[in-house]
Amino acid sequence: MTTTRNVSNNSLEKIASEIIGCQLCKLSGSRKNAVPGDGQTSAKVIFIGEAPGKNEDEKGKPFVGIAGRILDEALQKVGIEKSQVFITNIVKCRPPGNRVPEDDERAACRPYLDKQISLIAPRIICLLGATAYSAILGGKSIIKNRGKIIKRSGQKYLITIHPAAAIYNRNLLRVLEDDLSILYKEIRKNRKFG
Ligand code: URA
Repeated sequence: MTTTRNVSNNSLEKIASEIIGCQLCKLSGSRKNAVPGDGQTSAKVIFIGEAPGKNEDEKGKPFVGIAGRILDEALQKVGIEKSQVFITNIVKCRPPGNRVPEDDERAACRPYLDKQISLIAPRIICLLGATAYSAILGGKSIIKNRGKIIKRSGQKYLITIHPAAAIYNRNLLRVLEDDLSILYKEIRKNRKFG
């Protein structure tokens, strides 16, 4: 048991309120809403995507558009309950036109992500797509490495595709589900879901 497990939800809420008021990079000038993330302090899994899109910017919640529906479907299919995970992004504000977040934006946002990770102390972090993979692990090829669990500095990571990749290629939905079933087994192994 670690002390970080005992921190109250207040602490995630405190980080969220810092993010909501953040003006550290230029994305703060164009956002409607910052999107800190969603889920429980007690989550054993953190999902990390790229950045909020249009729907997320409007609602202030992560993965509430089409990519979110695909992620929900895949989670449901493999038996992971969304209420048992924390979902967030590399950057917490929408880049204009959904462009890939730039290095200075990622760097400005990184302390928020690091604080969320250290408060939640997840058993495993699931990296959704190339931006999350490169920002967190410095990785390049999702295709070569997806479905793999990697341990770095004592933290486990599962690399998979971004759910948006399955919007136009339904075969990739199967790929996402296969990878999430690896995640499910890992969680079961660690007795999270019964
Ligand atoms: N894509 C992401 O990477 N994150 C979201 O929150 C929504 C879409």
